[in-house]
Amino acid sequence: MDQQIYLDYNSTTPCDSKVLEKMIPYFNMIFGNASSTNHSFGWKASEAIENATNSIAKFLKVKPSEIIYTSGATESINSILRGVCDKFNSSHIITLKTEHKATLDVCSYMEEKGVRLTYLDVDQNGIVNINDLDAAITKETKLVSIMYANNETGVIQPIKEISKVCKRNNVLFFSDATQALGKIELKKFFSYVDYACFSAHKVYGPKGIGVTFIKNSSKKFLDSYILGGGQQKNLRGGTYNVPSIVGFSEAIELFNFNFLNYIKRTTKLRNNLQKGLLKIEEVNVNCISVKRLPNTLNISFKFVDGENLLNSLSRYIAVSNGSACNSQSVKPSHVLIAMGIPENLCFSSLRISIGKHTTESEVDKAIQIITKEVAVIRSSNLLWKKK
Ligand code: PLP
Repeated sequence: MDQQIYLDYNSTTPCDSKVLEKMIPYFNMIFGNASSTNHSFGWKASEAIENATNSIAKFLKVKPSEIIYTSGATESINSILRGVCDKFNSSHIITLKTEHKATLDVCSYMEEKGVRLTYLDVDQNGIVNINDLDAAITKETKLVSIMYANNETGVIQPIKEISKVCKRNNVLFFSDATQALGKIELKKFFSYVDYACFSAHKVYGPKGIGVTFIKNSSKKFLDSYILGGGQQKNLRGGTYNVPSIVGFSEAIELFNFNFLNYIKRTTKLRNNLQKGLLKIEEVNVNCISVKRLPNTLNISFKFVDGENLLNSLSRYIAVSNGSACNSQSVKPSHVLIAMGIPENLCFSSLRISIGKHTTESEVDKAIQIITKEVAVIRSSNLLWKKK
């Protein structure tokens, strides 16, 4: 088998070798516990964390004290949603039907615990209606949880407008920015939100490390989620994961170094891919007319059995039918369903995501392979033949 083409960078990315190199000494040479304040082993680890945090904060344009390390975005989401609900006796959370399962699953758990939840509809492009959001807010509402960029379609929500509504109504705003980091400029994002989260493995860093951004002024509305040891200002106990924190900081340094070029390059490759696949008859590119992540393409093929397509493609290309967390599920994508896409088309949709290692020739090969496999599957579909 030829080398497979990896086009699933929204699922995860390979850890950059420069990141790995930076991390290695912190496993066995500078191995101290950052909370050991009585000796130089601890001081060195603590210094590494301070340097990494300062560097991440500088890139994000936030204060180092606003950064909390977690095991990844899923933990960050759990800690924000549950932390806010624990702080208030009665509460109401508003979210979108198209959020990542990490958010939706925590929301349904909170619902079972008696928290009131509103799952807002989205339009045909997956975008929230600001008037619907405004109308859904009541005196009980404590938190709005709306992601910045969608992991399946790449669609970008109007964060500034959402923030305005939240501020006017005195409601906290959390945005899962896991897919936005490293793909679009965050600009004033942190002035709009109270809480946000990120994950290193989406940006060529190690797996198992994430960041929760907690605006200093919004700390008081959050209860600790993981207790023990008092680390991270009592908000998240547990020994600091020094190698991974150093790795996350290095990953951010690396993409920041050549960021605008990366955006230009991935946009070009994604658009080439889109152009090539649009030559196939009866396809829809989802969210084509709205702001999307530059690397993401979500495309539906009519008259194609999606499972067959993914099976045959899996010999040559790594793509997905949605979020990696959903890919074992036989249900259609909840994101596309919420956008009003018919169920049969949801099943025959692919999420293709480009990364910094993707080449023009890989894109060309992917177009050829997908075009061929779609034609093969359609050739045995009676409905296609009768068309
Ligand atoms: N949120 C979004 C938008 C994601 O894409 C993902 C990962 O797929 C997560 C949360 C979960 O991230 P992690 O793997 O760091 O827990």
